[in-house]
Amino acid sequence: MGQLEQKILIVDDEKSNRQILKDLLQEEATIVFAKNGEQAIELAKKHVPDLMLLDVVMPDKSGFEVIEAIKNNPTTMQTSVIFITGLANSDDEERGFALGGCDYIYKPFKANIVIARVLMHLELIRQRKMLDEFAHFDPLTGIYNRRKLDLVIKDEISANKRDKKQLAIAFIDIDYFKQYNDNYGHGAGDMALKKVATTMKEALHRPRDFIARYGGEEFVIILPDSNLSGATQVFEQLLHAIRSKKIQHGFSDVASMLTVSIGAVIIDDTHTVSNEEVMLQADKLLYQAKHNGRNRLVIEQMS
Ligand code: GH3
Ligand code: MG
Ligand code: MG
Repeated sequence: MGQLEQKILIVDDEKSNRQILKDLLQEEATIVFAKNGEQAIELAKKHVPDLMLLDVVMPDKSGFEVIEAIKNNPTTMQTSVIFITGLANSDDEERGFALGGCDYIYKPFKANIVIARVLMHLELIRQRKMLDEFAHFDPLTGIYNRRKLDLVIKDEISANKRDKKQLAIAFIDIDYFKQYNDNYGHGAGDMALKKVATTMKEALHRPRDFIARYGGEEFVIILPDSNLSGATQVFEQLLHAIRSKKIQHGFSDVASMLTVSIGAVIIDDTHTVSNEEVMLQADKLLYQAKHNGRNRLVIEQMS
């Protein structure tokens, strides 16, 4: 959650304009340049800048076409766009805002006005990112929380259907954790929770694999593009990874160290299910894993 330097993409077909803007702003952020619309779209995807200063009249694509591409791409849609343009009239300005621009500055511009507006937007962006972190991360374990899970699970279920893939969703619950807390104290319990969360996160390797703390000592994992045998392998490895941490638990009935139980379902593209139905099914299988002796995985294809 470190305070990374912010990035600005300056887009203008005239070199002197790019240079002036760079001189004004290089103290405030990392600067990247594009000299036409195509390049702007490419570099935006590559660098995912916080802010774009976008010229409107350019030889290949207009700034209005560029912002449409930026706002329609999930990778770049969060980038804020300020138009800086010689199209100094209220109709074009109105159009710029309607397309999703956050500000509109007329050329020739006054240096101090550009700086003031850019700084204001950088500050807004910083605050939005901070709010996003507060809203979507669990402060104890540093992994995503349930609010983020609710967003991701809906997206992944529809992507699964669209791409005709299979998807695994699992509930993970620590075994005899109440006993752990009661005997070692809540502080030690918190440390154990962190360790379990970190271990599970490290056991996931693909970029879209997702883990969240659902609440208490319960976690949810989503593995996109995974079938029964693939997901079984990942979850068995995860059980093994947690046992290997050897977090001593002298009050568990199943082992001398901390263990977890996992209930998981595989859904394919033929299923039309809500996230609630999938979670309910995974929770039932988790209950079965507990009932069958804990420290194990119960996984099934969704019927
Ligand atoms: P089971 O094997 O059936 O899952 O038994 P359990 O004891 O783990 O299950 P139960 O749901 O009864 O207990 C969950 C316990 O998890 C209750 C509470 O002591 C502990 N817990 C939940 N959230 C936290 C937390 O944020 N920090 C700590 N230290 N403990 C927590
Ligand atoms: Mg529980
Ligand atoms: Mg438990």
